[in-house]
Amino acid sequence: RSDDLVVVNSADEIGKLAKSFNYMKQQLVGIEKMRSEFIANVSHDMRTPLTSINGFVSGMLDGIVKPEDYNKYLTIIKDETLRLTKLTNDILHLAKIQSGSIRLFRENLIVKTILDSVISSTRALVEKKSIELALECDNTITVYADSDKLKQILINIIDNAVKYTRYGGEIGINVSLRYKPSVTEFRIRDTGIGIPAEELPLIFEKFYRVDKSRSSPGGTGLGLNITRSLIELHGGKIWVISELGAGTEIIFELPQ
Ligand code: ADP
Repeated sequence: RSDDLVVVNSADEIGKLAKSFNYMKQQLVGIEKMRSEFIANVSHDMRTPLTSINGFVSGMLDGIVKPEDYNKYLTIIKDETLRLTKLTNDILHLAKIQSGSIRLFRENLIVKTILDSVISSTRALVEKKSIELALECDNTITVYADSDKLKQILINIIDNAVKYTRYGGEIGINVSLRYKPSVTEFRIRDTGIGIPAEELPLIFEKFYRVDKSRSSPGGTGLGLNITRSLIELHGGKIWVISELGAGTEIIFELPQ
């Protein structure tokens, strides 16, 4: 609170001490605010699926839900459970990144091999939505990275491209080498719903989701924040280009 600040306007030692005390106080208030916002976000995101699971299970036990509708409600309960699992995993992951305890096991990786395995894990959903997926990546392109982390980065970005692209849309993945500085550049482009210009700088923030009603119901708003942290741990960077209604392109580069 601002009334806790020390008011000393002199330029001597006492004045300097007061100034650094006030600075530390403001930092602490900022951290405390972030912590409470984080807890509020997590609690809200957990309560919504828990309320719906509780409601449907109670309805079944009370006989309000008819046995012929069980399948429909059990499917919703399963989806909500998956969402809670994803949220818990994302939070654990985030906590690990923030505590600085993530270690990278870097090696020279053939990017095409990593991409093939990531794409095969999302193949079912791509086919279900009749999305056309085009991959351009030379077999010789390598990157010096942690294989599991690179997979996680690509899964997060490609999953979003699939989630936010309509039935029959297109996704293009392009990997190329750039020199000076030597980096491997990844571009993941989709013809999906796009992101409003004013929200572009925010999508990498924790829990940020563009208009919750249009975002995928299974999302947590943590995926891109984790993705950016993992890329920065490798000394790389990530950015986005998007046009509302036309599509999105996520670009990231990793040092060679
Ligand atoms: P979520 O779990 O909600 O997908 P992310 O951190 O992965 O969270 O993404 C944050 C938000 O950015 C999403 O909720 C979505 O609104 C927007 N977004 C991310 N990728 C795309 C994309 N390819 N197309 C449109 N919107 C996207």
